[in-house]
Amino acid sequence: MSQTIGFIGLGIMGKPMSRNLLKAGYGLVVYDVVPGPAGELSAAGAARGGSARDVAERSDIVIAMLPDGPDVERAILGPGGVLEGARPGSIVVDMSSINPMVSQKVGAACAERGVAFLDAPVSGGEPKAVDGTLAIMVGGDADVFERVRPVLAAMGSSVVLTGPVGAGNVTKLANQIMVACNIAAMGEALVLATRAGLDPEVVFKAVSGGLAGSTVLNAKAPMVIARNFKPGFRIRLHHKDLRNALLAAESMKVSLPLTSLVQQSLMALMNEGKGDLDHSAIVTFTERMAGIEVKKPPVG
Ligand code: NAD
Repeated sequence: MSQTIGFIGLGIMGKPMSRNLLKAGYGLVVYDVVPGPAGELSAAGAARGGSARDVAERSDIVIAMLPDGPDVERAILGPGGVLEGARPGSIVVDMSSINPMVSQKVGAACAERGVAFLDAPVSGGEPKAVDGTLAIMVGGDADVFERVRPVLAAMGSSVVLTGPVGAGNVTKLANQIMVACNIAAMGEALVLATRAGLDPEVVFKAVSGGLAGSTVLNAKAPMVIARNFKPGFRIRLHHKDLRNALLAAESMKVSLPLTSLVQQSLMALMNEGKGDLDHSAIVTFTERMAGIEVKKPPVG
């Protein structure tokens, strides 16, 4: 396989995703502002880049997996960034979850330099990044998508083109709205059941086969009942996603009252020092208002 992939941003998600590219046989050049993870990947066979620009100079396809839009703008458009090194005809794929309007801005700047761009955020979290079974939602031109599809398939089990540049992140925001509101609704339901004296685990089992059953419920209810809020997906990242959803919604004159309510709850939880807990801890917002914790009732 002759293509070389550049990978920028080797955090919770980027590190296992780039490992899967190595496993699939791609040549890999990696870079992160923090040196530790690049060292681990070079031990596994990747080359180390000195900057985002250096990675782009040495790659046919550059992937970014960074926290938010300002980080993506810095790494791709900024000094020492990808666009200073990318060759015309190369492809930039931003897999970060960011505001779709920033994707469009970065995509337009790439196009001016003859560089193709896709936004391709993911859902599934660290376990699916490790397994290579992420759901990847892509925005961009169909022909560019087809050229990059095998690379994305090395990291995900579902790879879907949802529209032009920006559409990947609109889809991801839709995903994040559904997940956040689901967790908040689950929290209210389990707080009520616990206050009524029921065992929340039994309630979870009773409803999970019916219409209220969901992937969110199966993943998050056991964590809440076990009081295990180790991330997973951090509250501060979900707050960022809902903020981006509300910004995008405002620009399109769409009102999202439920999203707004959950985003405000996330802000309150961050102010309580819970920003680095798993987003299942959204439940603790309702718990505080009820003065009760969702857990199994004492035996006897
Ligand atoms: P993370 O904070 O663990 O990793 C981000 C990495 O980017 C860090 O290692 C950081 O040092 C690096 N970085 C920041 N700015 C940089 C720059 N200018 N140049 C080079 N490196 C830079 O975050 P993560 O959990 O891996 O998430 C990355 C993206 O994926 C976010 O947009 C997040 O919302 C999304 N996401 C995360 C999950 C999850 O479960 N963690 C799931 C789906 C999507």
